[in-house]
Amino acid sequence: MALVNENYTHLKDSYLFSQVAQKVNTFAAAHPEKKIIRLGIGDVTLPLAPAVITAMQKAVAEMGVKETFRGYGPEQGYNFLHEALVKYYASFGVTLQSNEIFISDGAKSDCGNITDLFDNANTILVPDPVYPVYLDTNIMCGRKIVFMDGNPENNFLPMPDDKVKADIIYLCSPNNPTGAAYTKPQLQKWVEYALKNDAVILYDAAYEAFVSDSDIPRSIFVIEGAKKCAIELCSLSKTAGFTGTRCGYTVVPLDLVRKTKGGKSLQLNKMWLRRQTTKFNGTAYIIQRGAEAVFSPEGQKQCHEMLAFYKENARIIAEGLKKKNIKFYGGTHSPYIWMQCPKGMKSWEFFDFLLSKLAIVGTPGAGFGKMGEGYFRLTAFGSRENTIEAMERMEKGL
Ligand code: PLP
Repeated sequence: MALVNENYTHLKDSYLFSQVAQKVNTFAAAHPEKKIIRLGIGDVTLPLAPAVITAMQKAVAEMGVKETFRGYGPEQGYNFLHEALVKYYASFGVTLQSNEIFISDGAKSDCGNITDLFDNANTILVPDPVYPVYLDTNIMCGRKIVFMDGNPENNFLPMPDDKVKADIIYLCSPNNPTGAAYTKPQLQKWVEYALKNDAVILYDAAYEAFVSDSDIPRSIFVIEGAKKCAIELCSLSKTAGFTGTRCGYTVVPLDLVRKTKGGKSLQLNKMWLRRQTTKFNGTAYIIQRGAEAVFSPEGQKQCHEMLAFYKENARIIAEGLKKKNIKFYGGTHSPYIWMQCPKGMKSWEFFDFLLSKLAIVGTPGAGFGKMGEGYFRLTAFGSRENTIEAMERMEKGL
């Protein structure tokens, strides 16, 4: 008799986005005359950069010619993309070797897959509020999960607590959903904690390209000692509009070594290579050529223009909230603005208010964890026109 994984019964159904969609559809049907503005979008809206399209078209043509056709590629990614990434990391002061970088079809898959490397007896420390993937992938393995609270006192940037014993720590900076970003001294504290406890930090840098301040690290590896205690997960989804194209990368330093239950030391880089070569057959050649183009001078210029567009939207939202004296986090190094619900409203209460009174949609913070109650996530991925109009409506109606 096949027994299925009982841990799946411990997962909570994810109602957040379906409930949002359902409420919006009901409102739209009842008020067809109203123009609904969606500031809850967690997906990019601008098209891929021209440099990326040209590179992918060239790669498609190569696939149609016998001499340049490619079959299976290296599971860990092509060397040309590794080299582009080595140079990219060097541009913000991180020295990597090609074989420390693993190309994938996105950070979500790697977030889930990386759990393969760790014993189920580990205690997992996740922030609250949180990107739900960290939580659910560990519930699926039946692991003990402890939370660290993000709150106004710590500016939604939880710091290590020596009373908490954690083996695996998830950090996401700049953060989804709060938009908050750790400074160098703060990350240094996390690295010290991880080294002291022989823990491993899983550092999600999916929004690193939004950082525009040299005090905010774009990679955990700018911190001394991080190569002995951290794995970095990153993605081209938000930096280059690859949400539907799919490409990400994970950096597993050669210096990262931990023991098995039986006391044997293993290099996590070798484990991840073994895992990937066993369970993954690589990211498509065409996509990797597109990704390589992101890191070309032309691609970087075009992607920065996209990021600047979203960041300007974020600035407009932030300015609007400031005018209303509404407390918020993020919006500077991130496409997310995490606002306190006005007048002491709860997250869903504010959602209903905003939709029914102003025809604006956002994401209730309570959907990202208990510490999100009373907060609300707005995103900068909308059009300029809609972003401006939404803030005008809020200025008048809040
Ligand atoms: N990590 C964070 C924090 C995210 O917000 C997202 C996407 O929203 C991802 C990872 C997933 O990225 P990808 O599209 O590369 O799977």
